[in-house]
Amino acid sequence: MIKVSGLRKSYGSIDALRGIDLNVRMGEFLTLFGPNGAGKTTLLKILSTIIAPTSGSVIIGGLDLKKANYEIRKNIGVISHKTFLYGDLSAMENLIFYAKMYDVPNPKARAAELIREVGLRGREDHQVRTFSRGMEQRLSIARALIHDPSIIYLDEPYSGLDQHAALMLGNLLKKLHTQTRTIIMTTHNITHGLEISDRIVIQISGKIVYEGETKDHTVKSFEKVYFEKVGKRD
Ligand code: ATP
Repeated sequence: MIKVSGLRKSYGSIDALRGIDLNVRMGEFLTLFGPNGAGKTTLLKILSTIIAPTSGSVIIGGLDLKKANYEIRKNIGVISHKTFLYGDLSAMENLIFYAKMYDVPNPKARAAELIREVGLRGREDHQVRTFSRGMEQRLSIARALIHDPSIIYLDEPYSGLDQHAALMLGNLLKKLHTQTRTIIMTTHNITHGLEISDRIVIQISGKIVYEGETKDHTVKSFEKVYFEKVGKRD
C-alpha cells in the first residue's frame, strides 16, 4: 500500500531523513519508534503530502506521491498534536465543516455517527474550546475519519493523555484497525505501541535501524532492542 524508497529530507544543513526504505501492507498497523529528532514527524509529513522530500520516492496505492498529490490526499487522515479544530465551533459544527470540505454525502448524519463512535455523545453541541485534551483528541480522530480514509497517520497520539484517555484511544485505534485500513503511528510509549500494532520500526538519525513483528516481542524484549539501538546512535 505504501512503498518508500531512498527517501531523504534536508532542512538546510540538517539531514532529517537519510535514506528511508519502508513497505507497509494494506491493513497493516505499523508503529514507528525513535528518539527526539529521529525524523519521525518529517517522514509522516512527507507521507501525508504536507512537505516534499529532497529526494527518493513514495508510492501510495500505486500512485506516485510527486504526481498524484491531490488524489492521495483524499485517501488520508492525519492525527497529530495539532487538532485542526475550531475552538469557537461546537463538535458537530466542526465535523460538518470538514464533511462538507471533503464532499461527504449527508454531512450531518456522518458527523453524528462519528460523534457516537468516538464517545462524545452529549457533548456534540458544546464549543470545542471547553473540551479536555482527551475529548479534543477524540474529536480530532473523528475529524480525520470524516471522509473514511483508507490510510491513517497518527503522530504521538498519546501525548498529554491521562491513563483513562489513553485506554479509550487504544480501544478506538483497535476498532479502526481493519483489513482495508493502513495505519502508521509514531509514539514514545513502547507499551501502547506494542499493544496495537502488527509491526514495529525503530528510526534513529533519519534512518531505519530495526524492523520487527510485534508478535515476536514482549515489552521487555523490545525495550532491550530499542535501548541497545538508541545507545549506539551516531
Ligand atoms: P520528536 O520525537 O521530538 O517529535 P521527530 O523524530 O519527530 O522528533 P522531526 O520533528 O522529524 O523528528 O525532526 C527531525 C530533525 O529535523 C530535527 O533535527 C529537527 O530539528 C529538524 N527539523 C524538523 N522540522 C524542521 C524545519 N521545519 N526546519 C528546520 N529543521 C527542522
